[in-house]
Amino acid sequence: FPAERIRNFSIIAHIDHGKSTLADRMLEMTGTIDKTQDNRQILDKLQVERERGITVKAQTATMVYEFEGQQYLLNLIDTPGHVDFSYEVSRSLQACQGVILLVDANQGVQAQTFANFYLAFSKNLPIIPVLNKIDLKNANPERVIEQLSSIFEIDAESVLKVSAKQGTGVNELLQAVIDRIPPPPSDRNLPAKALLFDSWYDKYKGVALLMAVHNGSFKLGQHITLAHANKSFEIKEIGIMYPEPTPLTSLYAGQVGYIYCNMRSVKEAAVGDTIHLLSSPVEPFPGFAKAKPMVFAGVYPMDQSEHTQLRSALEKLLLNDPSVECAVESSPALGNGWRLGFLGVLHMDVFNQRLEQEYGTQVVLTAPSVPFKIKLKNIKSIKKTGDILMVNNPEKMPNVQHIEESFEPLVTGTIITPSVYLGDIIALCLERRGVQIDSRNIDSERLIMIYKLPLNEIVVDFYDKLKSLTSGYASFDYEDAGYESSNLSKLQFLLNGDPVEELSVIVHTSKAREVGKQVCSKLRDTIPRQQYQIQVQACVGGKIVAREDIKALRKDVTQKLKYGGDINRRNKLLKRQAEGKKRMRMVGNIEVPREAFIKVLQR
Ligand code: GDP
Ligand code: MG
Repeated sequence: FPAERIRNFSIIAHIDHGKSTLADRMLEMTGTIDKTQDNRQILDKLQVERERGITVKAQTATMVYEFEGQQYLLNLIDTPGHVDFSYEVSRSLQACQGVILLVDANQGVQAQTFANFYLAFSKNLPIIPVLNKIDLKNANPERVIEQLSSIFEIDAESVLKVSAKQGTGVNELLQAVIDRIPPPPSDRNLPAKALLFDSWYDKYKGVALLMAVHNGSFKLGQHITLAHANKSFEIKEIGIMYPEPTPLTSLYAGQVGYIYCNMRSVKEAAVGDTIHLLSSPVEPFPGFAKAKPMVFAGVYPMDQSEHTQLRSALEKLLLNDPSVECAVESSPALGNGWRLGFLGVLHMDVFNQRLEQEYGTQVVLTAPSVPFKIKLKNIKSIKKTGDILMVNNPEKMPNVQHIEESFEPLVTGTIITPSVYLGDIIALCLERRGVQIDSRNIDSERLIMIYKLPLNEIVVDFYDKLKSLTSGYASFDYEDAGYESSNLSKLQFLLNGDPVEELSVIVHTSKAREVGKQVCSKLRDTIPRQQYQIQVQACVGGKIVAREDIKALRKDVTQKLKYGGDINRRNKLLKRQAEGKKRMRMVGNIEVPREAFIKVLQR
């Protein structure tokens, strides 16, 4: 196939608007997959994606389509549908020359439609607007077209209408892909150069690299390297996704395909990197960056005896997801575990769900935190002065006296909602320290609202709250908006005056009392009464902001057996009590059961 007869494109859509169904239909209509087989949603490979019905990891497929007597090679590059993966979306768009913007004709434009549109728009890619699900009785194409033109200034004439489910209009759409999307710019005479836009790990063959070849060609047996890694690899297998990996002998400029090269770690395959031949270096693609984790959480086995088992499950998962950061961590209460860094909240949820599937049991996942930046004062007595510290763990928070200024990460959030929920949403955003940037109608019944929000305020339950306030009708998406100065405090908890360091959290000072109260009452409810009264306190920089008391109790397990109890039973009871104590953590002279920590720390 000469490059003029190749098209590389993506489908971008809000979750559930029919991206996977449309991809399946296209593969079916081009004879790439069999109609009779059970291929539903062939692109959503991972179990968790099927279960949650979302596409997390970009998958790609090649198909051959005949149009006006000519055969065309169409490469569908499936982008992840969620903001947590916006860097991946952005990079997979780099491998395309155009996109299909797919919108549910009933639901209309949603938050991720909006975010994805601007990603494609900012890359100057041609956008084919498509309404899906026109077979639905309550589809309202006219209203959705009105939204598209009012928000994106899309010309009503250019909008296509399809039913991915029934196949209506899909042929016309494939023709539009050929008509409206240009062939990839490529030069087969220049030294080989390709963009790495996805990778996955195969147990037997090692890391597979998915790449879009820009110049020259890659052949079986050649030695390659990556611009941002200094290792070389021999191409052991090369081919296209048709839709399963199908080996060939070479890939030429304009094509999209995969290689296996005995790479053992996905960490070496950073999305966005440039692949070239070892013998002929090239100018790398600009704008290379590694996706950086923004949400951190501790992971512990429910029981320490399961530590090894959890470790091997984690290792397996990390093989497949280079964007998860992992460091060993230990806590006096929860034992040995790990601190993981994720791109966002959904990324964390998906990882956790996969972990539970791999590992087959529950893990303790601590409440997520975000990376704060702390500027240190210029004080001679501390080693680092005037430095910026990244703090994603409250235990690493420096002393108040050493802090010059604190900064927290912000996001720009987009909410699209039926107008009737306006008041409730404003209240929710206000409570989460949000600042409104914009709010306007997109049709007679819907609004788009743009808010600047601290990431720390949305990592826990913002999305769930928004969904329940609006009976599921509002959609939300966010993007990174840098750091801003903020009034942060370390909130500590004391039991009879002794600090319980692993319960500390970093909070906005205005939230200290509220969070303090919540945690103190959880502790009061989960720490059993002991021989003396226990004072549970929350404090910020020595100032008490919340307090609860646990009344004293005299507990003697053998009491009931005082008269005529048999000695064996008595010993058994004492032994059981001793075993219980092993699962206790002593704070001063107070026994705190592991369950209390789990209750407070878990999400
Ligand atoms: P994705 O999240 O964008 O990949 O969406 P899916 O392809 O998984 O589709 C979400 C739901 O919409 C599924 O239940 C599909 O069966 C359904 N769906 C997709 N396309 C159509 C369509 O054209 N008509 C109807 N009625 N349902 C559709
Ligand atoms: Mg899908």
